[in-house]
Amino acid sequence: MGELKDLIKVIPDCTRMSTKQDDLLHHGKDKSSYHPVLTPDIVVFPITTEEVKGVVVFASEKGIPVTPFGLGTSVEGQVIPILGGISMDLSLMNKILEIRPNDFFVKVQPGVTRNQLNQALKPYNLFFPVDPALDATLGGMVATNASGTTAVRYGAMKDQILGLEVVLASGEVIRTGGAFLKSSAGYNLTGLFTGSEGTLGVITEIILKVYALPEFTATLTAGFESLEAASRAVAGMMQNGLAIGCVEIVDERTINAINQYKKMDLPEIPQLFIELVGKEYTVMNDLDVVKKELELQGCVHIEYASDKEQRERLWMARHEAAMAIMAINPGKRLMATDVCVPLSVLPSAIQRTREIMNEYGVAGAIMGHVGDGNFHAVFGVDPMNKDDLRKLQSINGAIVDYALSHEGTCSGEHGIGIGKIPFMHKQHEDLIAIFKSIKKMFDPNNIMNPGKII
Ligand SMILES: Cc1cc2nc3c(=O)[nH]c(=O)nc-3n(C[C@H](O)[C@H](O)[C@H](O)COP(=O)(O)OP(=O)(O)OC[C@H]3O[C@@H](n4cnc5c(N)ncnc54)[C@H](O)[C@@H]3O)c2cc1C
Repeated sequence: MGELKDLIKVIPDCTRMSTKQDDLLHHGKDKSSYHPVLTPDIVVFPITTEEVKGVVVFASEKGIPVTPFGLGTSVEGQVIPILGGISMDLSLMNKILEIRPNDFFVKVQPGVTRNQLNQALKPYNLFFPVDPALDATLGGMVATNASGTTAVRYGAMKDQILGLEVVLASGEVIRTGGAFLKSSAGYNLTGLFTGSEGTLGVITEIILKVYALPEFTATLTAGFESLEAASRAVAGMMQNGLAIGCVEIVDERTINAINQYKKMDLPEIPQLFIELVGKEYTVMNDLDVVKKELELQGCVHIEYASDKEQRERLWMARHEAAMAIMAINPGKRLMATDVCVPLSVLPSAIQRTREIMNEYGVAGAIMGHVGDGNFHAVFGVDPMNKDDLRKLQSINGAIVDYALSHEGTCSGEHGIGIGKIPFMHKQHEDLIAIFKSIKKMFDPNNIMNPGKII
């Protein structure tokens, strides 16, 4: 890897390349997961598409793997450079390139974070809805097809991306989509890169939809005697077509962790955190329907957030739920299952998850974005304790088996992660050939497709 010093020809500022142990360690793991640490040989911090291209071409010529890195908040080991090589940290490519309030889109570099974007959108009364609980780069969020609390209303990242600029393993820079809301021109290449976890190319520019801030918001928490009853209430609410912005489930163990971590005194029973958004009269009207549906399913406790401060405190508690679990398991790292099932299967899937934990004698917490059938069993784990790890992997396997056998998926929003094929030219020759033939097919000079471009 002595040749890595030649990267200086591509990244002329040596402060934007590092082989310092701290930097290598930081880029050899994510922020919270139990996966092993495997350090890269070097970290580079490009600031332009040209520099990204230069690094990729350099790496391709020398057969060195490249692993893109945003903020390292992914939880499945996605940023771990399993074959070493170059960790490409995109956090300095953090410019908001354009805000088009009247067209409801923005153009950003991949290192812009969602909080940064939302701050910039506030003066326009706009916001970007996708909310994976904590701050993350938009490049990382595209690459994991992130979703989270608001997906029940706005969808996941895949529903927000209008276009991308991507540097392929060959160094070729391609653009997919554009600043238009719909298109029938050619294949959905934007969709191919969404959720590709850094395996197909480096995303260097993103065009995203943005939305008007809702006029009125109501937040409430609803407590139940059982988690299954709470999940049944979700299906009931969704069938009524209400103005639901978020509906989150948290079990009594999660609430207990939140109470300890955030010094709160929420009732330690399974709860739904619900937000209704829209015009005030719609929200107030829907609030009555929600209350009836909750009571029908045996809700034993309802609390409304009376003001903005209380609302923010409740959502902060929900957002930090996983961190609360970590805090009550000092020295441990997080493992979270991530199944997503059809809504009608949700109550039985949650019930089965609890049974599986009981069968293995493991006390994990359950929480999730249940408005779209996605929930997590969350555990604190000591990565050095191989027996515990094996037990938790078996639990995960059993939860996934249940989801798969009921038309669900193993991952609603976290992705596949560690073990994915690193981003290397040699392994991308077929992909690059496919892009070349797509280009040929849509070539305006091709007599069969006059005038079409991708
Ligand atoms: C406590 C906690 C709660 C979470 N809750 C949620 C949740 O509710 N919903 C949810 O969806 N996620 C959740 N996550 C996961 C995480 O926040 C998301 O996966 C996030 O989208 C990752 O963004 P990042 O900037 O940290 O990317 P990173 O973790 O740095 O990278 C993620 C992947 O993207 C690739 N990548 C990064 N930048 C680029 C680029 N420019 N081009 C190509 N590939 C790139 C990386 O190689 C890697 O494969 C949670 C994580 C934690 C720790």
